[in-house]
Amino acid sequence: MESSVKGTRVLRVNRENPPEGSLQIAADILRSGGLVAFPTETVYGLGADTTNAEAVRKIFKAKDRPGDNPLIVHVADVDDVSFAAAVVPAPAQALMEKFWPGPLTLVLPRSDRIADVVSCGLPTVAVRMPDHPVARALIRAAGVPLAAPSANLSGRPSPTTAEHVLEDLAGRIDCLIDAGETGIGVESTIIDLTVDPPALLRPGGITPEQICAVIGPVFQGATVSGQVELGEQPKAPGMKYSHYAPIADLVLVEGAPSRVAAKINDLIVEYSREGRRVGVMATAENRGAYMAHVVLEVGSMQRPATIATALFATLRAFDRHKVDVVLAEGIPPKGIGLAVMNRLRKAAGGRVIEV
Ligand code: AMP
Ligand code: MG
Repeated sequence: MESSVKGTRVLRVNRENPPEGSLQIAADILRSGGLVAFPTETVYGLGADTTNAEAVRKIFKAKDRPGDNPLIVHVADVDDVSFAAAVVPAPAQALMEKFWPGPLTLVLPRSDRIADVVSCGLPTVAVRMPDHPVARALIRAAGVPLAAPSANLSGRPSPTTAEHVLEDLAGRIDCLIDAGETGIGVESTIIDLTVDPPALLRPGGITPEQICAVIGPVFQGATVSGQVELGEQPKAPGMKYSHYAPIADLVLVEGAPSRVAAKINDLIVEYSREGRRVGVMATAENRGAYMAHVVLEVGSMQRPATIATALFATLRAFDRHKVDVVLAEGIPPKGIGLAVMNRLRKAAGGRVIEV
């Protein structure tokens, strides 16, 4: 099924069985240097031909992305890694065997077949194989790995539905493949294998514990928690930028659940008195505790994967409710909770209260 929004072609496909015709339309656009947004198991990506510098530059322009924030190369098959990377060390091989296809990105030495601009001139390249039938079928149809960051405007919450992509990018990109909601909801884990020991650059769907079980100790800098110390040099380009933010100010409250709820209730009173419209992003466990203008449930603290799945859609929903401030409950930074807290701390941009 095909439609068009502000000149962006929208191809609606079945996740498990995307029609050949739709994939060919999108692949032709990519081969002729255009931009196509597509679903992965983490968030929607905005793809371009990795070998076409001009096409890759269009990604930065469409997203308003800073020119020193490199892109992840998406491959359809393990064999394609050697197209993007000059060397595939043994630990990388072990991680690929264990976690691919899946939400794990490996930073490796870059091959010269990949346009410089993909890595913003760095000698390394970030590569992953997405666990989504539409993503992999599209990469195969295009016949080339795709450079693809998240398909949102830079600084906005990443898109987990086709509607989110259109909110940000309608009229700015050539095509969008809509296959419904993405699933995991937070971006891939990124691990740098060009340093010793390997360094975790961004937490995501694969946890540090899972990675350590395969390759041993991994370095985790302050950027992983989402708290960048003042004056600290970011370990990965792009990490210095504020991210994932709704239009309202987001205030993150961290601590024991009962104290968090009490503090948020104090803040609701305080902000309401100032005449500000207040939203609360609540866990299922605490949902009933709040008397705010808007209370949105993001998922269950007992099952943090549900929070990861709904996180970005919930942040965007606060925009529609036109609140001035969002008070968000923190969750324990364990398992996928670490990825959730990394995104929330970045969205808060320093407005973090510990109780
Ligand atoms: P996005 O796909 O929008 O989540 O952004 C991709 C992220 O991958 C960037 O913010 C970078 O931090 C990271 N990245 C991509 N390429 C590299 C690289 N060569 N070295 C280190 N980090 C990278
Ligand atoms: Mg992004």
